[in-house]
Amino acid sequence: MGLGTGYEQQECFLARSLEVVGERWTLLILRDCFYGVRHFGDLLAHLDISRGVLTDRLDTLVTASVLERRPAGRGVEYLLTDAGRALWPIIHGLSKWGETYLAGDHPPRVFSHAQCGSDTDAAGRCPTCGLIPDVADLVVRPADGHHAARRDDPVAQSLRNPHRMLTPLP
Ligand SMILES: [Zn+2]
Repeated sequence: MGLGTGYEQQECFLARSLEVVGERWTLLILRDCFYGVRHFGDLLAHLDISRGVLTDRLDTLVTASVLERRPAGRGVEYLLTDAGRALWPIIHGLSKWGETYLAGDHPPRVFSHAQCGSDTDAAGRCPTCGLIPDVADLVVRPADGHHAARRDDPVAQSLRNPHRMLTPLP
């Protein structure tokens, strides 16, 4: 029996988690969901991926109950479930890991605690309040002096201003 492309033969929960979130683009799709992007077309425009890949990744995430697909207006919207929201520390941590070990430029975005305004540290902790705020209590903004002018889609434009995480975008 040959090895498949998946991790089915790995008896480990890390492998099982990677079956759901380990495919190319998936974590970037989820990052956008945390920003508050909810519609297929907005994800498509912001990520520059093919419709087929986006459809495939969203289907995987919905099947795994990481995202919920529900009717909205004339279309559908995608919302993070509790299981999806539980991925925030991983996405944040992976992003901070890149800042530390793959750095070259300063970070494009910083997060602050909405209740007190302090920037959170690399571990996601608010130094003023001494706690790790829920993602819904974070405000994301471009880092000082960093102008992410490369993209011009509606999501990228909205993210040029401070934005409360999980609130609808654009
Ligand atoms: Zn605080």
